Amino acid sequence: MQAGIQQRVCASCSLAETAELPISDHAFADWNTVSASTCTMQGQRERVCGICGAAQQENLPLARHQYGLWENEDRADCTVYGTRHRTCVHCDIMETGPLAPRYHAYDKWEIRSESTCLQAGVRARNCKYCQHVEEETLPLKAHVAASWQVITQAALHRPGEQSRSCKNCDTVLDMRSYYPGDEAFAVSFCVMGPPVDDLVPEVSDKGYRAALLDTTQDRTIILPLIAADAYCVGEVHIKIRQGSISASYLLYSAKSQVFKERMQLLEPGTQLTQEIILSNRQGLKVSGEQELFHKLQNLGHVLIYLRFDGIFDFNDPLNEKIDWQDEKWQAYAADLQAQADTARELYR
Ligand SMILES: [Zn+2]
Ligand SMILES: [Zn+2]
Ligand SMILES: [Zn+2]
Ligand SMILES: [Zn+2]
Repeated sequence: MQAGIQQRVCASCSLAETAELPISDHAFADWNTVSASTCTMQGQRERVCGICGAAQQENLPLARHQYGLWENEDRADCTVYGTRHRTCVHCDIMETGPLAPRYHAYDKWEIRSESTCLQAGVRARNCKYCQHVEEETLPLKAHVAASWQVITQAALHRPGEQSRSCKNCDTVLDMRSYYPGDEAFAVSFCVMGPPVDDLVPEVSDKGYRAALLDTTQDRTIILPLIAADAYCVGEVHIKIRQGSISASYLLYSAKSQVFKERMQLLEPGTQLTQEIILSNRQGLKVSGEQELFHKLQNLGHVLIYLRFDGIFDFNDPLNEKIDWQDEKWQAYAADLQAQADTARELYR
Protein backbone atom coordinates (compact mmCIF):
# COMPACT_ATOMS: atom_id res chain seq x y z
CA MET A 1 0.00 0.00 0.00
CA GLN A 2 1.29 3.41 -0.99
CA ALA A 3 0.86 6.72 0.69
CA GLY A 4 -1.51 9.02 -1.24
CA ILE A 5 -1.01 12.64 -2.22
CA GLN A 6 -3.52 15.45 -1.96
CA GLN A 7 -3.37 18.76 -3.79
CA ARG A 8 -5.09 22.13 -3.50
CA VAL A 9 -4.96 25.01 -6.03
CA CYS A 10 -5.14 28.64 -5.17
CA ALA A 11 -8.18 30.22 -6.84
CA SER A 12 -6.42 33.50 -7.59
CA CYS A 13 -3.01 32.36 -8.73
CA SER A 14 -3.50 28.80 -9.56
CA LEU A 15 -0.55 27.88 -7.39
CA ALA A 16 -0.89 24.28 -6.42
CA GLU A 17 0.07 23.00 -3.05
CA THR A 18 0.49 19.27 -2.31
CA ALA A 19 0.49 17.28 0.93
CA GLU A 20 1.08 13.59 1.59
CA LEU A 21 -2.00 11.77 2.77
CA PRO A 22 -1.75 9.38 5.83
CA ILE A 23 -2.03 5.69 5.19
CA SER A 24 -5.66 4.95 5.67
CA ASP A 25 -6.90 2.67 8.69
CA HIS A 26 -7.39 -1.02 8.25
CA ALA A 27 -10.90 -2.10 8.10
CA PHE A 28 -10.98 -4.84 10.66
CA ALA A 29 -13.72 -7.32 11.04
CA ASP A 30 -15.03 -8.25 14.50
CA TRP A 31 -12.78 -9.91 16.98
CA ASN A 32 -12.75 -13.67 16.98
CA THR A 33 -11.89 -15.55 20.12
CA VAL A 34 -9.06 -17.90 19.36
CA SER A 35 -8.81 -19.40 22.83
CA ALA A 36 -10.93 -18.54 25.84
CA SER A 37 -9.32 -17.30 29.03
CA THR A 38 -9.26 -19.42 32.10
CA CYS A 39 -8.52 -18.17 35.59
CA THR A 40 -4.87 -19.14 35.15
CA MET A 41 -4.25 -18.62 31.44
CA GLN A 42 -5.03 -15.68 29.19
CA GLY A 43 -7.01 -16.50 26.04
CA GLN A 44 -6.50 -14.83 22.67
CA ARG A 45 -8.60 -13.05 20.09
CA GLU A 46 -7.85 -12.10 16.55
CA ARG A 47 -9.28 -9.82 13.88
CA VAL A 48 -8.50 -9.60 10.23
CA CYS A 49 -8.54 -6.56 8.00
CA GLY A 50 -11.10 -6.88 5.29
CA ILE A 51 -8.96 -4.79 2.88
CA CYS A 52 -5.45 -6.04 3.33
CA GLY A 53 -5.92 -9.24 5.24
CA ALA A 54 -3.70 -8.09 8.05
CA ALA A 55 -4.43 -9.97 11.30
CA GLN A 56 -4.29 -8.45 14.70
CA GLN A 57 -4.01 -10.54 17.90
CA GLU A 58 -4.64 -9.61 21.43
CA ASN A 59 -4.56 -11.39 24.79
CA LEU A 60 -7.83 -11.64 26.60
CA PRO A 61 -7.99 -10.78 30.30
CA LEU A 62 -7.79 -13.70 32.72
CA ALA A 63 -11.16 -15.16 33.58
CA ARG A 64 -12.48 -14.57 37.08
CA HIS A 65 -12.02 -17.40 39.51
CA GLN A 66 -15.07 -19.44 40.07
CA TYR A 67 -15.38 -19.93 43.74
CA GLY A 68 -17.23 -22.60 45.58
CA LEU A 69 -19.17 -21.84 48.74
CA TRP A 70 -17.59 -20.07 51.67
CA GLU A 71 -16.35 -22.44 54.33
CA ASN A 72 -16.06 -21.20 57.87
CA GLU A 73 -12.83 -22.01 59.60
CA ASP A 74 -13.04 -23.32 63.14
CA ARG A 75 -12.64 -20.59 65.66
CA ALA A 76 -12.11 -20.72 69.39
CA ASP A 77 -14.86 -18.23 70.03
CA CYS A 78 -17.90 -17.46 67.95
CA THR A 79 -18.26 -13.99 69.36
CA VAL A 80 -15.09 -12.57 67.80
CA TYR A 81 -14.20 -12.25 64.12
CA GLY A 82 -12.96 -15.45 62.54
CA THR A 83 -11.89 -16.51 59.10
CA ARG A 84 -13.70 -18.15 56.22
CA HIS A 85 -12.40 -19.28 52.88
CA ARG A 86 -13.57 -20.38 49.49
CA THR A 87 -11.72 -22.18 46.79
CA CYS A 88 -11.80 -21.72 42.99
CA VAL A 89 -13.23 -24.82 41.46
CA HIS A 90 -10.73 -24.56 38.62
CA CYS A 91 -7.41 -23.62 40.11
CA ASP A 92 -7.75 -24.32 43.79
CA ILE A 93 -6.75 -20.81 44.67
CA MET A 94 -8.20 -19.96 47.99
CA GLU A 95 -9.71 -16.69 49.04
CA THR A 96 -10.03 -15.90 52.70
CA GLY A 97 -12.36 -13.42 54.28
CA PRO A 98 -13.61 -12.34 57.66
CA LEU A 99 -16.19 -14.38 59.42
CA ALA A 100 -18.59 -12.18 61.32
CA PRO A 101 -19.09 -12.75 65.04
CA ARG A 102 -22.19 -14.61 66.05
CA TYR A 103 -23.93 -15.80 69.18
CA HIS A 104 -22.97 -19.18 70.48
CA ALA A 105 -25.40 -21.93 69.70
CA TYR A 106 -25.52 -24.39 72.54
CA ASP A 107 -26.19 -28.08 72.81
CA LYS A 108 -28.30 -29.30 75.72
CA TRP A 109 -27.16 -28.80 79.30
CA GLU A 110 -25.26 -31.74 80.74
CA ILE A 111 -24.80 -32.38 84.45
CA ARG A 112 -21.08 -32.54 85.16
CA SER A 113 -21.42 -33.06 88.90
CA GLU A 114 -24.50 -33.42 91.07
CA SER A 115 -25.05 -31.06 93.95
CA THR A 116 -24.76 -32.34 97.48
CA CYS A 117 -25.90 -30.47 100.56
CA LEU A 118 -22.39 -29.06 100.99
CA GLN A 119 -21.10 -28.64 97.46
CA ALA A 120 -22.87 -27.11 94.50
CA GLY A 121 -22.93 -29.26 91.38
CA VAL A 122 -22.12 -27.99 87.90
CA ARG A 123 -23.92 -28.20 84.59
CA ALA A 124 -22.34 -27.24 81.29
CA ARG A 125 -23.27 -26.87 77.66
CA ASN A 126 -21.00 -26.81 74.67
CA CYS A 127 -21.27 -24.45 71.72
CA LYS A 128 -21.96 -26.31 68.54
CA TYR A 129 -19.59 -24.08 66.62
CA CYS A 130 -16.67 -23.28 68.85
CA GLN A 131 -14.86 -24.53 71.89
CA HIS A 132 -16.81 -22.31 74.19
CA VAL A 133 -18.31 -24.09 77.20
CA GLU A 134 -20.81 -22.37 79.42
CA GLU A 135 -20.86 -23.58 83.01
CA GLU A 136 -23.42 -22.93 85.68
CA THR A 137 -23.50 -23.98 89.31
CA LEU A 138 -26.54 -25.88 90.46
CA PRO A 139 -28.38 -25.07 93.67
CA LEU A 140 -27.26 -26.92 96.80
CA LYS A 141 -29.35 -29.89 97.87
CA ALA A 142 -31.32 -29.37 101.04
CA HIS A 143 -30.03 -31.05 104.18
CA VAL A 144 -31.97 -34.09 105.27
CA ALA A 145 -32.60 -34.01 108.97
CA ALA A 146 -31.99 -37.22 110.86
CA SER A 147 -33.77 -37.95 114.10
CA TRP A 148 -32.98 -36.10 117.31
CA GLN A 149 -29.97 -37.40 119.19
CA VAL A 150 -29.24 -36.88 122.84
CA ILE A 151 -26.08 -34.85 123.40
CA THR A 152 -26.45 -34.40 127.12
CA GLN A 153 -28.75 -36.71 129.03
CA ALA A 154 -31.52 -35.04 130.94
CA ALA A 155 -31.61 -35.82 134.63
CA LEU A 156 -34.21 -35.21 137.29
CA HIS A 157 -34.98 -31.47 137.32
CA ARG A 158 -32.19 -30.83 134.81
CA PRO A 159 -33.01 -30.63 131.09
CA GLY A 160 -30.68 -32.34 128.65
CA GLU A 161 -29.70 -31.33 125.18
CA GLN A 162 -30.55 -32.87 121.83
CA SER A 163 -29.31 -32.13 118.37
CA ARG A 164 -30.40 -33.04 114.90
CA SER A 165 -27.86 -33.47 112.10
CA CYS A 166 -28.06 -33.90 108.39
CA LYS A 167 -28.20 -37.55 107.35
CA ASN A 168 -25.80 -36.92 104.53
CA CYS A 169 -23.19 -34.52 105.81
CA ASP A 170 -23.50 -34.57 109.61
CA THR A 171 -23.94 -30.81 109.76
CA VAL A 172 -25.76 -29.97 112.95
CA LEU A 173 -29.03 -28.40 111.86
CA ASP A 174 -30.82 -27.84 115.10
CA MET A 175 -30.36 -27.98 118.86
CA ARG A 176 -32.94 -28.06 121.59
CA SER A 177 -33.17 -28.73 125.25
CA TYR A 178 -35.44 -31.54 126.31
CA TYR A 179 -36.96 -32.76 129.47
CA PRO A 180 -39.08 -35.88 129.44
CA GLY A 181 -40.86 -34.95 132.63
CA ASP A 182 -40.22 -35.88 136.24
CA GLU A 183 -41.95 -39.23 135.87
CA ALA A 184 -39.34 -40.38 133.40
CA PHE A 185 -36.86 -40.36 136.27
CA ALA A 186 -39.04 -42.28 138.67
CA VAL A 187 -37.41 -45.05 140.66
CA SER A 188 -38.98 -47.68 142.88
CA PHE A 189 -39.81 -46.93 146.47
CA CYS A 190 -40.27 -50.07 148.58
CA VAL A 191 -40.95 -50.79 152.18
CA MET A 192 -37.97 -52.12 154.09
CA GLY A 193 -38.02 -55.92 153.88
CA PRO A 194 -36.03 -58.75 152.33
CA PRO A 195 -35.23 -58.38 148.62
CA VAL A 196 -37.94 -60.14 146.63
CA ASP A 197 -35.40 -61.92 144.45
CA ASP A 198 -34.46 -63.76 147.64
CA LEU A 199 -38.03 -65.05 147.77
CA VAL A 200 -38.81 -65.33 144.07
CA PRO A 201 -35.55 -66.29 142.35
CA GLU A 202 -37.06 -65.81 138.87
CA VAL A 203 -37.20 -62.07 139.51
CA SER A 204 -33.79 -60.72 138.69
CA ASP A 205 -32.43 -58.11 141.05
CA LYS A 206 -34.59 -55.04 140.59
CA GLY A 207 -34.14 -53.77 144.11
CA TYR A 208 -37.72 -54.59 145.09
CA ARG A 209 -38.45 -55.52 148.69
CA ALA A 210 -41.39 -56.91 150.67
CA ALA A 211 -41.81 -57.07 154.43
CA LEU A 212 -43.13 -60.06 156.37
CA LEU A 213 -45.29 -58.97 159.28
CA ASP A 214 -46.55 -60.83 162.31
CA THR A 215 -50.30 -60.17 162.49
CA THR A 216 -51.08 -61.94 165.73
CA GLN A 217 -50.96 -58.80 167.88
CA ASP A 218 -52.45 -55.40 167.32
CA ARG A 219 -49.65 -52.89 166.89
CA THR A 220 -48.20 -50.12 164.80
CA ILE A 221 -45.00 -50.70 162.91
CA ILE A 222 -42.91 -48.03 161.26
CA LEU A 223 -40.64 -49.22 158.50
CA PRO A 224 -38.27 -47.22 156.33
CA LEU A 225 -39.35 -46.41 152.78
CA ILE A 226 -36.38 -47.17 150.58
CA ALA A 227 -35.90 -45.46 147.21
CA ALA A 228 -33.80 -47.01 144.45
CA ASP A 229 -32.83 -49.66 146.99
CA ALA A 230 -30.27 -47.23 148.41
CA TYR A 231 -31.84 -44.19 150.09
CA CYS A 232 -34.23 -43.90 152.97
CA VAL A 233 -36.73 -41.29 151.74
CA GLY A 234 -39.59 -41.74 154.16
CA GLU A 235 -41.41 -44.19 156.36
CA VAL A 236 -44.34 -46.54 156.12
CA HIS A 237 -46.77 -46.69 159.00
CA ILE A 238 -48.47 -50.06 159.32
CA LYS A 239 -51.27 -50.62 161.77
CA ILE A 240 -52.57 -54.05 162.68
CA ARG A 241 -55.98 -54.15 164.32
CA GLN A 242 -57.77 -57.44 164.88
CA GLY A 243 -56.46 -59.12 161.82
CA SER A 244 -56.95 -56.04 159.63
CA ILE A 245 -54.13 -53.95 158.34
CA SER A 246 -53.71 -50.38 157.10
CA ALA A 247 -50.63 -48.75 155.63
CA SER A 248 -49.79 -45.11 155.08
CA TYR A 249 -46.53 -43.38 154.39
CA LEU A 250 -44.78 -40.06 154.61
CA LEU A 251 -41.90 -38.66 152.64
CA TYR A 252 -39.13 -36.82 154.48
CA SER A 253 -38.48 -34.25 151.78
CA ALA A 254 -41.12 -32.03 150.22
CA LYS A 255 -39.24 -32.41 146.94
CA SER A 256 -39.84 -36.14 146.88
CA GLN A 257 -42.88 -37.21 144.93
CA VAL A 258 -44.81 -40.42 144.40
CA PHE A 259 -46.50 -40.92 141.02
CA LYS A 260 -47.88 -44.38 141.40
CA GLU A 261 -48.69 -46.51 144.42
CA ARG A 262 -48.96 -50.28 144.43
CA MET A 263 -49.72 -52.42 147.43
CA GLN A 264 -50.51 -56.06 147.91
CA LEU A 265 -51.03 -57.97 151.12
CA LEU A 266 -50.04 -61.56 150.45
CA GLU A 267 -51.33 -64.16 152.86
CA PRO A 268 -49.38 -67.31 153.71
CA GLY A 269 -50.00 -70.10 151.24
CA THR A 270 -49.93 -67.71 148.32
CA GLN A 271 -47.51 -68.92 145.72
CA LEU A 272 -45.15 -66.06 145.05
CA THR A 273 -44.69 -65.69 141.33
CA GLN A 274 -42.88 -63.35 139.09
CA GLU A 275 -46.26 -62.23 137.79
CA ILE A 276 -47.32 -61.01 141.24
CA ILE A 277 -44.03 -59.23 141.84
CA LEU A 278 -43.89 -57.49 138.46
CA SER A 279 -47.57 -56.61 138.33
CA ASN A 280 -48.31 -52.95 137.71
CA ARG A 281 -51.81 -53.03 139.13
CA GLN A 282 -52.42 -50.67 141.95
CA GLY A 283 -53.75 -53.44 144.18
CA LEU A 284 -54.96 -52.35 147.59
CA LYS A 285 -55.42 -48.73 148.60
CA VAL A 286 -52.74 -47.14 150.69
CA SER A 287 -54.23 -45.04 153.45
CA GLY A 288 -54.22 -41.34 152.87
CA GLU A 289 -56.19 -38.91 155.03
CA GLN A 290 -58.31 -41.68 156.44
CA GLU A 291 -57.04 -44.98 157.65
CA LEU A 292 -58.23 -47.81 155.50
CA PHE A 293 -58.02 -51.26 156.99
CA HIS A 294 -57.83 -54.31 154.77
CA LYS A 295 -59.19 -57.50 156.23
CA LEU A 296 -56.98 -60.55 156.37
CA GLN A 297 -57.58 -64.18 157.19
CA ASN A 298 -56.02 -64.69 160.55
CA LEU A 299 -53.04 -66.74 159.42
CA GLY A 300 -50.46 -65.16 161.67
CA HIS A 301 -48.38 -63.49 158.97
CA VAL A 302 -48.75 -61.29 155.96
CA LEU A 303 -46.25 -60.20 153.35
CA ILE A 304 -46.69 -56.54 152.54
CA TYR A 305 -45.51 -55.74 149.08
CA LEU A 306 -45.54 -52.02 148.56
CA ARG A 307 -43.85 -50.62 145.49
CA PHE A 308 -44.21 -47.00 144.43
CA ASP A 309 -42.85 -45.10 141.48
CA GLY A 310 -41.39 -41.82 142.66
CA ILE A 311 -38.63 -39.28 142.53
CA PHE A 312 -36.31 -37.96 145.18
CA ASP A 313 -33.21 -35.80 145.28
CA PHE A 314 -30.25 -37.85 146.42
CA ASN A 315 -28.37 -34.65 147.28
CA ASP A 316 -31.03 -33.75 149.79
CA PRO A 317 -29.70 -34.56 153.31
CA LEU A 318 -33.24 -35.54 154.31
CA ASN A 319 -32.81 -38.59 152.08
CA GLU A 320 -30.24 -40.69 153.92
CA LYS A 321 -28.10 -43.06 151.95
CA ILE A 322 -28.28 -46.47 153.51
CA ASP A 323 -24.96 -47.77 154.75
CA TRP A 324 -25.50 -51.45 155.48
CA GLN A 325 -22.28 -51.49 157.51
CA ASP A 326 -23.68 -48.88 159.83
CA GLU A 327 -24.99 -50.27 163.12
CA LYS A 328 -28.45 -48.83 162.62
CA TRP A 329 -28.90 -50.57 159.29
CA GLN A 330 -27.12 -53.75 160.35
CA ALA A 331 -29.89 -54.31 162.85
CA TYR A 332 -32.40 -54.28 160.00
CA ALA A 333 -30.22 -56.57 157.92
CA ALA A 334 -30.27 -59.31 160.57
CA ASP A 335 -34.07 -59.08 160.82
CA LEU A 336 -34.44 -59.21 157.03
CA GLN A 337 -32.54 -62.48 156.96
CA ALA A 338 -34.98 -63.98 159.49
CA GLN A 339 -38.00 -62.63 157.53
CA ALA A 340 -36.70 -64.14 154.32
CA ASP A 341 -36.23 -67.57 155.93
CA THR A 342 -39.79 -67.56 157.31
CA ALA A 343 -41.30 -66.17 154.13
CA ARG A 344 -39.69 -68.91 152.04
CA GLU A 345 -41.43 -71.46 154.31
CA LEU A 346 -44.85 -69.76 154.16
CA TYR A 347 -44.99 -68.80 150.49
CA ARG A 348 -44.19 -71.54 148.11
ZN1 LIG B 1 -5.82 -3.45 6.10
ZN1 LIG C 1 -9.34 -20.15 39.68
ZN1 LIG D 1 -19.60 -20.64 69.95
ZN1 LIG E 1 -26.34 -32.13 104.64
